[in-house]
Amino acid sequence: MSQGRVVVVGAGVVGACSAYYLRRAGFDVTVVDQAAFGKACSHGNCGLISPSHALPLAMPGAVKKTLPMMFKKDAPIRVAPRLDPGLWLWLTKFALRCKEAPMLHSAAGRHALLQSSITLYRQMLADEGIECEWEDRGALFVYKTQQAMDGYAKTDAWLQQFGLGAERIDGEELVRREPALKPGVAAGAWFYEIDAHLRPNKLMLGLRATLEKMGVTIHENTAVTGIAKENGKARAVKTATGEVTADHVVLALGALTPKLNHLIGAKVPIQPGKGYSMTMPRPGTCPAIPMVFQEHKVAVTPFQTGYRIGSTMEFTGYDTTINPARLAAIKAGAAVYLHEPTCEPVEEEWFGWRPMTYDGKPVIDQAPAMANVTVAAGHNMLGLSMGAATGKLVCEMLAGDEPHLDRSHYAIDRF
Ligand SMILES: Cc1cc2nc3c(=O)[nH]c(=O)nc-3n(C[C@H](O)[C@H](O)[C@H](O)COP(=O)(O)OP(=O)(O)OC[C@H]3O[C@@H](n4cnc5c(N)ncnc54)[C@H](O)[C@@H]3O)c2cc1C
Repeated sequence: MSQGRVVVVGAGVVGACSAYYLRRAGFDVTVVDQAAFGKACSHGNCGLISPSHALPLAMPGAVKKTLPMMFKKDAPIRVAPRLDPGLWLWLTKFALRCKEAPMLHSAAGRHALLQSSITLYRQMLADEGIECEWEDRGALFVYKTQQAMDGYAKTDAWLQQFGLGAERIDGEELVRREPALKPGVAAGAWFYEIDAHLRPNKLMLGLRATLEKMGVTIHENTAVTGIAKENGKARAVKTATGEVTADHVVLALGALTPKLNHLIGAKVPIQPGKGYSMTMPRPGTCPAIPMVFQEHKVAVTPFQTGYRIGSTMEFTGYDTTINPARLAAIKAGAAVYLHEPTCEPVEEEWFGWRPMTYDGKPVIDQAPAMANVTVAAGHNMLGLSMGAATGKLVCEMLAGDEPHLDRSHYAIDRF
C-alpha cells in the first residue's frame, strides 16, 4: 500500500537519494527538475566520498589564511566585491564561527552524515547494481611546504577526536607510493585510508535508471514556481505546465534554495560557492590515489575511464560564466606537483554552485511554512559524500520512523 505521494523537487544527488529511499519505503514518488536530471552541481564535481572532511571550512585561523587571497582574481578562494547584504552577513557569520567550539559542533553533524553515507552507498550500489567506478583507494592531502605539512598536525588532532586520524607520509616515501608526483616537490601528505571515490555522472545515471526501474516518475525541464496550499498544507507543486499533486514535498534545490525561501518560510542562508572542473582522458602517468594539493586547493581524481582536476571557491553570486583564467590556474596548480597534470583533449570544462552554509552543515528539516514540506539542501563541498544519508533521513522523517541520526544538527531554526 502506498505511504502517500511525494514530489521531490531537485534531481541532484540529494533529491535522487531522497527519492530512492522514499520509493523503497513505499511512497509514490515524482521527481521534478527545472533542468536535466543530475546535471547541476552533482554532475562534474570531484567525485570524492570524503569522511575525512568532517571539519567545516570555518575553523580557527581560516579568516587569517583566506582574507589576503579573497579579493585576488586568480586566487583559489575569491569574493567578487559587490553590494549583497546577504553575502556580507554570511561572511560575517562564517568569520564568527572560526573558533574551536563551533567548529567541533559543526564537525559532529557533518561526521554523522559522512559516516552513515559511505556505508549506505556501498549497500545501495550493491543492491541496485549501480556501476559508477567506485574505488576504495583513500585520499592524499598533499603539502608543498614543510611548515604547512607540520601545521596540519593540529587539524589531524581535531579529527582524531572523531576517530579520523590520518597516516603521515613524508616526502620520499610519498613519491614511492604515488609515482605520479614529481620527486622533491611536496614535503609530504596526510593519507586518509577511509575515503573513496566514484564517477559522479555515472552515479547519477545509475540512480536515474534505478528510480525509473522502481516506478518513480521523472519530469525534467519543469521549474517549480510555487506550492498550492490547502488547510495550511501543501497540496501540489506549481509548474508552468500545471500542478503535480503531493501529500509531501521535498525541496532539494541545492544552491538555488534561497530562490524559494518565500515558500519555505525561512531565510535559509545558502550562498553559491562556484567551483570548476576539467575532465579528460587519463594521462600516461595517472595518479592512482585521489589527491588534494592543499596550498593550491586543487583536487585530482583518477577515474577508471578518465581523469578530473577541479578547484576554486568563488562567491560571485549566480554567475554562469566559465573564466579561462581560473581554469588555467587550476592546471598550473596541478602542474606544480604532477609529472602529467593534464591530458588532451579536455572533454568537459564545467562549473557548479556548491550550496554553502556558513556553519558547513546542511538543512534537513521541515519547512516552517508548511509541515508537509521538507528542505534538504546546503551540503556545501560534500553533497556527494552526504547524499545517501540525507536521503535516508528525509525518508525517515516522512515515514515517521526513528531517525538513524540526530536530526537536531540539521535544524532550520539554527540560523
Ligand atoms: C568543483 C566542485 C567539486 C566538488 N567536489 C565534491 C566532492 O569531491 N565530493 C563531494 O561530496 N562533493 C563535492 N562537491 C559538492 C557537491 O557537488 C554538491 O554539494 C552537491 O552536488 C549538491 O547536491 P544537490 O543535490 O544539493 O544540488 P544539485 O546537484 O545542484 O541539484 C539541485 C537541483 O535542483 C534543481 N532545481 C533548483 N531549483 C529548482 C526549481 N525551482 N524547480 C525545479 N528544480 C529546481 C536544479 O536544476 C538541480 O538539478 C563539489 C562541488 C564543486 C562545484
